[in-house]
Amino acid sequence: MTSPVPVNPYLQLPDSPANNEKRYLISDLCAELERYLESPQIAEVYRAYLFGAQAHEGQKRVSGEPYIYHPIAVARIMCEMQMDYKSIIAALLHDVIEDTPTLKEQLAENFGDEVAELVDGVSKLTHLDFVSKAEQQAENFRKMMLAMVKDIRVIIIKLADRLHNMRTLEAMRADKRRRIAKETMDIYAPIANRLGIYNMRHELLDLSIKNAYPMRYRALNNACKKVVGHRKEIFQTIESAINERLKSVDIKATVTHRRKNIHSIYSKMKEKKISFRELTDVFGVRIVCDSVDDCYRILGVMHNLYKPIPGKFKDYLAIPKANGYQSLHSSLFGPHGVPIEVQIRTLAMERFANSGIAAHWLYKKGEESGSETAQTRALEWLKGLLEMQQRAGSSLEFLESVKVDLFPDEIYVFTPQGDIKKLPRNATVVDYAYAVHTDIGNTCVAARIDRRMSPLSSKLYNGQLVEIITSEQSRPHPSWLNYVITAKARTNIRHFLKSLQQAEAEKLGQRLLLQAMNQLMSKEYQPDESQIKRVLDKYRLKNYQALLSEIGLGNRNASLVVKALVDGDSSIDSHEFDSSGKPFPIKGTEGLVVSFAKCCRPVPGDHIVAHFSQGRGLVVHRLSCKNLQDPQHSHRKQEVQWSEHMQGEYLAAIRVDVQNQRGVLARLAETISNMSSNIEQVNQSEKDGLISTTEFVITVRDRIHLARIMKKLHALPIVNKIIRI
Ligand code: MN
Repeated sequence: MTSPVPVNPYLQLPDSPANNEKRYLISDLCAELERYLESPQIAEVYRAYLFGAQAHEGQKRVSGEPYIYHPIAVARIMCEMQMDYKSIIAALLHDVIEDTPTLKEQLAENFGDEVAELVDGVSKLTHLDFVSKAEQQAENFRKMMLAMVKDIRVIIIKLADRLHNMRTLEAMRADKRRRIAKETMDIYAPIANRLGIYNMRHELLDLSIKNAYPMRYRALNNACKKVVGHRKEIFQTIESAINERLKSVDIKATVTHRRKNIHSIYSKMKEKKISFRELTDVFGVRIVCDSVDDCYRILGVMHNLYKPIPGKFKDYLAIPKANGYQSLHSSLFGPHGVPIEVQIRTLAMERFANSGIAAHWLYKKGEESGSETAQTRALEWLKGLLEMQQRAGSSLEFLESVKVDLFPDEIYVFTPQGDIKKLPRNATVVDYAYAVHTDIGNTCVAARIDRRMSPLSSKLYNGQLVEIITSEQSRPHPSWLNYVITAKARTNIRHFLKSLQQAEAEKLGQRLLLQAMNQLMSKEYQPDESQIKRVLDKYRLKNYQALLSEIGLGNRNASLVVKALVDGDSSIDSHEFDSSGKPFPIKGTEGLVVSFAKCCRPVPGDHIVAHFSQGRGLVVHRLSCKNLQDPQHSHRKQEVQWSEHMQGEYLAAIRVDVQNQRGVLARLAETISNMSSNIEQVNQSEKDGLISTTEFVITVRDRIHLARIMKKLHALPIVNKIIRI
């Protein structure tokens, strides 16, 4: 990596920004980096800057500024999170693969594989275009998640990139601003939240509202400013009152107060449908101390100083949020009835609350951070995502699953053993059952909630004691999908339902393969293991079940599979089969499973229709069949036609009324047999003294063949009446 950057001697480094904005100055970035990086690392960063400036030379942002300002600003955001120097380099170069002719290999050559991979990862995400259809958005989202699993720094760079783009969105057209803001709200802010990077989340959300709803934002901002003016004194009084009290009990802590973010004020107004005037808690107080023990002591002091508002206390110290966030929250009645929201936490928790997952890099060296758990939690979450994505059928399913995870609004319920289970708000009994164990989810039938019997669809609330009742015979039901909300339950139920279909396909495949074997081979024929193995290898299938389900799903033709099985087996003469197998009796059904309905037994020459049936493939009926008049079939009916070159025999059913004489059945059978048809079934269904009714199922080549047989039978003097059933 010592190879010098081939700097073009005529390279024009961009002028200083007009307003001398520091975040666009490479010199300022390097000065900031000196606070936590070694000099050789900073030299590398500068080298990367030269490389980037050269690659982007002449390019301008929409605002008209030199393009390189943007990567510098992104690197600056990474620097504020004190990310490692390789991420800073990658941030400086994050657009060179995408927007310049620079290749990944060149980056690897100059800055090593790690940086090249990071930039490549970010570029792949840059390709994403979230505007289009849901499916595409879902696919993009999936890619983002996968990139994150590979190296989470890719996402942090992407978030920093988005943050700077949001900060400079004014240069864009209004419709574009709205779209980008919407996307930031839907995808980037939730990811920042999930990774615990709250600082970034707040800014992303505030900027989103500013760009998506500029009027509302301005009105709110002005209203906030006024309130800040009015309440300033009150809050200063409160702050010093707290400080004094803490001093008197000898606890060291830093007390600050701040106005809440516009987005949290806005969403509270929307959620509670109240006006800004009615909104009372615009301010929050934060107390940062040294130890967990101090946190609880301070809480006691606060509740002593001001009366707590009932039901508002939250202990995220004992039970951290899913993203690792820890803090004590409480709301108090302050002087003059001003509500005060307090957050109490240690310094390590405070740092984590600001940089989330990024805190991992921040305190990598030596210092104890408390972020180890956060890191583990994030990785666990990502691992879970990976599993989910393997199970989810489509990107849309995956997105739907992940979205639930991205908006953590949790409740806590207790198992009969007293363990705490964390679930999202609105979770139901089924969600809980799957949270306990997949097998319990798959077999749950009801629950006892606080010892009262409750149905599976019951919503759970904080603090409930939930006991699941299972039954061995019970299976997941598709209707559960209507009310489960956790990704785990949803994916498992879907997985189960899919495997049911799988079993069905296997059953069908088995039947078709047997049928084909009987047709093409002698009845005793059984493929041996080596034959099966050869075919599995040929089709690249895992096992015999997979082969059966391939046949059942119509992906493989059973006759061809039989041919493949016996092929190369010298004991069997395989000349009987031509390479295409038998012609298909119905036009355009290549690759489909075709069967003939028993209710009307169509034969070639009949007018036919077909419908698709799970487990039986395409089922062919006669047009006149009563079973198909049923309106539930009507939308699935398909016009079909017999193919021209028919061979083989079909089953037809006829009913014959004959005079009751001795030897009648023999006469009928003889006549049928003389017409080269076989009797497959006989059923003497009615009998009185004079007339007996006999039903035959016979084999015919086609409709004409059947008509001739019926004519011959009718000509017999003993036959009174003959009809086709
Ligand atoms: Mn960029």
